[in-house]
Amino acid sequence: MPALGLGTWHMGEGDASMAAEVNSLRAGIDLGMTLIDTAEMYADGGAETVVGEAIRGRRDAVYLVSKVLPYNASRSGTIAACEASLKRLGTDHVDLYLLHWRGRHPLAETVEAFEALKAEGKIGAWGVSNFDKDDMLELLDAAEPARPAANQVLYNLSRRGIEFDLLRWSQVQGIPIMAYSPLDEGRLVGHPVLEEIGRIHKASSAQVALAFLLTRPGVIAIPKSGSPDRVRENFHAAEIRLTSEDLRLLDEAFPPPTRKRPLEMI
Ligand code: NDP
Repeated sequence: MPALGLGTWHMGEGDASMAAEVNSLRAGIDLGMTLIDTAEMYADGGAETVVGEAIRGRRDAVYLVSKVLPYNASRSGTIAACEASLKRLGTDHVDLYLLHWRGRHPLAETVEAFEALKAEGKIGAWGVSNFDKDDMLELLDAAEPARPAANQVLYNLSRRGIEFDLLRWSQVQGIPIMAYSPLDEGRLVGHPVLEEIGRIHKASSAQVALAFLLTRPGVIAIPKSGSPDRVRENFHAAEIRLTSEDLRLLDEAFPPPTRKRPLEMI
């Protein structure tokens, strides 16, 4: 999985912005940001339609991630949801299929559907989203011998809760963390400490926020932008090497957790 991907939440919500969104995703793919994260939930399938348009003719260049809603995540519901996603995406498979968050359907049932989809070649791998460490332990039990290929959770400088235990546990387990809302939905942009660190690296505050996440092994960041210029800016974040002094300043401005808190989610 590439370490820096493209988010798509809020894409596909209006016809007027669709061409710009398609162009942004294509700009990212051109640069090699080939992981695209989407979900049946986003714009009620509209984001998947935008992604389908962006990857038309270049499906093989892309690592495609989509998600099933918890209320669809029964044995048969998961399969039907995946098939509907594939149709909107204009492809015969997604590379990674996630349970968007935990719901009322037993995990074992959802995993059974994931494994059936995998056997049919409709998904390459499966994983989860918004699972805390306890949920992951339960999942490993329910899924054995199968294993999740990723856990997508809220993680950015303002939301460092997973550093208390989930992050390290996932690294030890070899389960990648996909950091969603890596710019805290844009709120980190323009933060004075990020700007100050950015001046030394000739980088923007957004790039510093992304570079912080990329210093962590096993973490993939999926910023969303509907602008090709900002997608390019985000891509170049991978070239920044933060120093130990930069990291000290970041810890001072955005203290790491000192105790367990329930996993935050949006
Ligand atoms: P992000 O943290 O990626 O922030 C997106 C916002 O930041 C947008 O308003 C965007 O505006 C702006 N932005 C992006 N790049 C820049 C830049 N370089 N400079 C200034 N502003 C910038 O938030 P998201 O919540 O979108 O998270 C990313 C992705 O994670 C989602 O799109 C989705 O795919 C996934 N996600 C998953 C969730 C889950 O439950 N599994 C929950 C939430 C998100 P503009 O478009 O105008 O550039």
